[in-house]
Amino acid sequence: MTHSDRILMGPGPCNPYPEVIEAFSRPVLGHLDPEFIPLLDETGQRLRQAFSTTNPLTFPVSGTGSAGMEAAFVNFIEPGDTVVVGVNGVFGGRMCDVAARSGAEVVRVDAPWGTAIDPEQLLDAHPDPKIIAVVHAETSTGVRNDIAQLGAAKGDALLLIDCVTSLGGIPVELDEWNVDIAYSGTQKCLGVPPGLAPLSVSATGVERIVERPQSWYLDLNMIAKYVTGGSARAYHHTAPISMIYALHAGLGVLLDEGLEASFDRHRSAGEALQRGLVDMGFELFAQEGHRLPELTTVVVPADRLPSGLDEAGVRRRLLDDYGIEIGGGLGEFAGKVWRIGLMGHTARQRNVTLLLGALTEIMATPA
Ligand code: PLP
Repeated sequence: MTHSDRILMGPGPCNPYPEVIEAFSRPVLGHLDPEFIPLLDETGQRLRQAFSTTNPLTFPVSGTGSAGMEAAFVNFIEPGDTVVVGVNGVFGGRMCDVAARSGAEVVRVDAPWGTAIDPEQLLDAHPDPKIIAVVHAETSTGVRNDIAQLGAAKGDALLLIDCVTSLGGIPVELDEWNVDIAYSGTQKCLGVPPGLAPLSVSATGVERIVERPQSWYLDLNMIAKYVTGGSARAYHHTAPISMIYALHAGLGVLLDEGLEASFDRHRSAGEALQRGLVDMGFELFAQEGHRLPELTTVVVPADRLPSGLDEAGVRRRLLDDYGIEIGGGLGEFAGKVWRIGLMGHTARQRNVTLLLGALTEIMATPA
């Protein structure tokens, strides 16, 4: 089995759309080339559609989703600012680290992994926070945290959300939800390899960018001059040209399909997988009503594993014999859950059927 046969159903990268792979073969232009700039602008416009926003400051940060996370915090925090963070998985925990390193006083609101965070608890956590931050789709647990209620009652706080695993797969409505800062990654439901972090900042957010963020590379004051500078565009750093071609192409596929159609495809694939797993006797990990269709978490059936195989052995057999990658658990759930992605190009019934068939065969393997 070759690498190109792999079906990427882990929580990491999905299989890129064919149009995206083709985009990488386009000749590389200069980052200020008059033919590249319109493509960068159109990428921003396509991102606005995907994020459902009119925010002018919407562009792909150079770097993976984590660069988006850092940009989302460092540009808005001055030492001593209060930041409320919802934590119900690994990535909420990372937000706390990033905010604390920027000098924030972090007020952490924890919910058990596998459950959603109660928006009221986030809103009540502090009387006057600078930022309220939460992960929309927690990739470590397969849980969706609801955003709309936070935006409606946030007062003067900036609302910051992580859309790494949600953008393109489930509705993300930045303007309707009153979100000020949002970032994502390319490798999940956008169907593009890892390497860029779409970011969007509201007009209120732009007014509150600090003068001297604690990062030079991610300083939005300078980057904005390149990405939204019109005829006065100035060099800040060299844009990763081929990645931007790829994102432009991936967003083209998404918008040609239509956002609603993409959400429907993710929903029907996710529901089919979750139904199939339950029919096989597996227990789903994430709270009902908050399950992500694009990332399913399932409890490893320790007492039913084929003899001689532990949970990592089952995943290894899926990879070696069937070319299917799925993910293991993180943190205290390492070895206890599997994480199965159906994101972007990978979110198809065909892959659900293959995985369920492969898992059935492996689980029935005699010692
Ligand atoms: N936030 C969430 C919810 C994620 O799932 C990930 C990665 O999986 C990240 C942030 C970090 O993104 P990256 O690994 O692309 O840096």
